[in-house]
Amino acid sequence: MTAQSLDGVELASQFRFGQRGVNLFVADDMQQNRRSALAPFEFWDQMVQAAAPIRNGAVTERADRITVRHGPRRNARDGAESKGAVVAQAVIIGAGPAGLMAAEELSAAGHDVLVAEAKPSVGRKFLMAGKSGLNLTKDEPLETLLQSYGDAANWLRPMIADFDATGVQRWAQGLGQEVYTGTTGRVFPTVMKASPLLRAWLSRLEAAGVQIRTRWRWLGWDRDALLFETPDGEQRLAPDVTILTLGGASWARLGSDGQWAKILGDAGVATAPFAPANAALSVGWSDHMQPYFGSPLKSVRWKAGKLQSRGEATISATGLEGGGMYSLTPALREGAPLYLDLLPDLDLAALQSRLDRKKSKTTLSQWLKKSLRLPPQKIALFHEMTKSNGLPQARWPEALKYLPIRYDSLRPMDEAISTAGGIKRTALDGGLMLTAIPGVFCAGEMLDWEAPTGGYLLTACLATGKWAGRSAAEWLQAR
Ligand SMILES: Cc1cc2nc3c(=O)[nH]c(=O)nc-3n(C[C@H](O)[C@H](O)[C@H](O)COP(=O)(O)OP(=O)(O)OC[C@H]3O[C@@H](n4cnc5c(N)ncnc54)[C@H](O)[C@@H]3O)c2cc1C
Repeated sequence: MTAQSLDGVELASQFRFGQRGVNLFVADDMQQNRRSALAPFEFWDQMVQAAAPIRNGAVTERADRITVRHGPRRNARDGAESKGAVVAQAVIIGAGPAGLMAAEELSAAGHDVLVAEAKPSVGRKFLMAGKSGLNLTKDEPLETLLQSYGDAANWLRPMIADFDATGVQRWAQGLGQEVYTGTTGRVFPTVMKASPLLRAWLSRLEAAGVQIRTRWRWLGWDRDALLFETPDGEQRLAPDVTILTLGGASWARLGSDGQWAKILGDAGVATAPFAPANAALSVGWSDHMQPYFGSPLKSVRWKAGKLQSRGEATISATGLEGGGMYSLTPALREGAPLYLDLLPDLDLAALQSRLDRKKSKTTLSQWLKKSLRLPPQKIALFHEMTKSNGLPQARWPEALKYLPIRYDSLRPMDEAISTAGGIKRTALDGGLMLTAIPGVFCAGEMLDWEAPTGGYLLTACLATGKWAGRSAAEWLQAR
């Protein structure tokens, strides 16, 4: 078997059989070949052969690309699972960070857990987040951290207090990942990518007996059973507890398509409409801006409505993108005008006196470049916006501090880093269980909260996933 990797991650799927509890981990090539990783039977002979050398203890061997591990089985239900029948006490739907965290929590409480994922592999958005370094959290005191969740802060407080920035860092370190904190407090894995962390996490989950089913799309409920579309046809599962961690409604190609909102709405669960959060802006540039596509705007301050940010942005072919404006999305969604301070460390009076000293033969561009030392992309943007806004020379100093950025709209929601909207907090109890559907818990970005980039998104997804997992375990215990 020749394993191919997806996004650089060799994912493993687990098969368990026999009284002695041999676990077989088969690389993702079965999925790449469009075979269900849940149909191990075609590979049965190969697996049995691969398992043959295993005798005792935690021996791990590789046979081609098949990894074979030996360990005790954890659950009494294992016998029923050996050839086809799927049994799980707890089903988690959606294998992003929230779902995997919920799985870990339930499994640690001793429950039999199955994670169902619609895509051919797990954690696709998490891996995408890794492409920009994987900002795991922000190293801030709890109260500062919570401020970034706006009016959802009080709701999320107990969950994030239980798994705060320190908790996230310890968790990553526990998975063998070194982390470092940048100058702004953002925390990243030292390797600046998600794949080693995800690989270690999946191994730990699999070793704990968590079953992962990919290409299993949840379609809703068929009476009391969860209904899935799978490569082997429809499957129905009736677990004791379900956790939904289906993500928001952006980057649908990575799995989070928001289609669950209709299923839950039909089931009487209150949801707020999705809206882009952390979104880029569409700007209709003149041809003069073309040479600056891809250029960063550093040392600037953005303002929209009551929000402001000193983050960077990049001039793109379609407009402006980057953390600097993402955090303004709640105001920009409402159509608030956007202003840019090109020189946040120089006040208006100082600028005016520099302009007063400008020699008459010095052009504006020369003055911006030589006296103010603005880089070419800032000068180009200044020209672009003063011209399109018809700002006269007399207003240049003011325009440098308060440049109106004419924009058309936010970029489409599917391009947004995250989405606002989702399951309303009034639809959930304190343990994140749906009050309309007892035994069904929810976590992650599918809940109605939003936060800027900076590690706040993953922190809340992990914290709510952990909280929902623990609440579900307590609910099972109390039954
Ligand atoms: C480009 C990019 C960069 C980012 N960078 C960062 C960052 O650096 N730091 C940060 O904090 N956040 C970042 N984020 C945001 C972060 O990745 C998400 O907030 C987070 O992944 C959400 O986790 P989740 O588990 O709630 O949902 P998701 O990760 O979206 O997982 C949901 C899962 O549910 C599955 N699913 C959906 N519907 C079904 C169904 N019907 N049946 C079965 N499965 C289903 C999906 O396939 C998916 O795997 C970034 C996002 C993007 C797009």
